[in-house]
Amino acid sequence: MLDADVLVLGLGPAGASAAAEAARRGCRVIALDRKREAGLPVQCAELVPAMVDVEAGVLAGAVRQRIDAMATFVEDDAPDLKPGFPGYMLDRAAFDASVVEAARQAGARTFFSSVVNRISRDGTVTLADGRSLRAPVIIGADGPRSRAGKAIGSVNTELVETRQIAVPLKRAQTATDIFLSADIPGGYGWLFPKGDVANLGAGVGPGGCHGNFVPQTNNS
Ligand SMILES: Cc1cc2nc3c(=O)[nH]c(=O)nc-3n(C[C@H](O)[C@H](O)[C@H](O)COP(=O)(O)OP(=O)(O)OC[C@H]3O[C@@H](n4cnc5c(N)ncnc54)[C@H](O)[C@@H]3O)c2cc1C
Repeated sequence: MLDADVLVLGLGPAGASAAAEAARRGCRVIALDRKREAGLPVQCAELVPAMVDVEAGVLAGAVRQRIDAMATFVEDDAPDLKPGFPGYMLDRAAFDASVVEAARQAGARTFFSSVVNRISRDGTVTLADGRSLRAPVIIGADGPRSRAGKAIGSVNTELVETRQIAVPLKRAQTATDIFLSADIPGGYGWLFPKGDVANLGAGVGPGGCHGNFVPQTNNS
């Protein structure tokens, strides 16, 4: 049984930030994640509004490209280009790793390859490898299928299925492309540029995709 003042479940940006802050305030912090290393695999399209950096100043070495506009494609109509949309494309794995490193520097003990299996009513957290941990404060930052949420009866039921791949771009672009179509019900598609490649993905509601949606971008 490991002991701590604060136990953080999940070392994404939320958990790592919470771990860092609690450690800076003098708490003994243990923070853990089921991933083998911070931020990988990347489960994000990696776009953030520029205001995130203005307000939090945390992006540092993770920015890969500036974004200045958003193009919205609705079915086969000409795209609607919205200029004045400042943002950044990140290397999300590098960003996550930097936040975890900040938590470590602040004194938090971080553990990867640590899968939370169960949280019992007395607050004991049991890991898949049989270890158990306890702390007076447990921070559930373990994502949309949160074990912490389940333990307090708060389970997300409206989930969107997403898929994303990296594709080469024919030419660099500074706009993010968003695709709205009846073929992508309850969600949308995206092409977010990162230098000479882009994150191409789609998220759909519970009904799944209809037909074979092919994005017609300015980069086709
Ligand atoms: C396809 C996709 C595209 C996205 N694109 C964008 C975007 O472009 N811009 C943007 O701002 N946001 C985007 N998001 C959302 C963004 O990724 C999330 O808002 C963000 O990651 C939330 O951070 P978090 O720390 O709360 O959770 P997460 O980053 O999800 O971190 C939760 C952590 O908990 C860990 N965990 C889960 N279960 C357990 C368990 N049982 N035991 C141990 N550890 C566990 C996970 O491994 C994970 O590391 C996207 C999300 C998806 C899925």
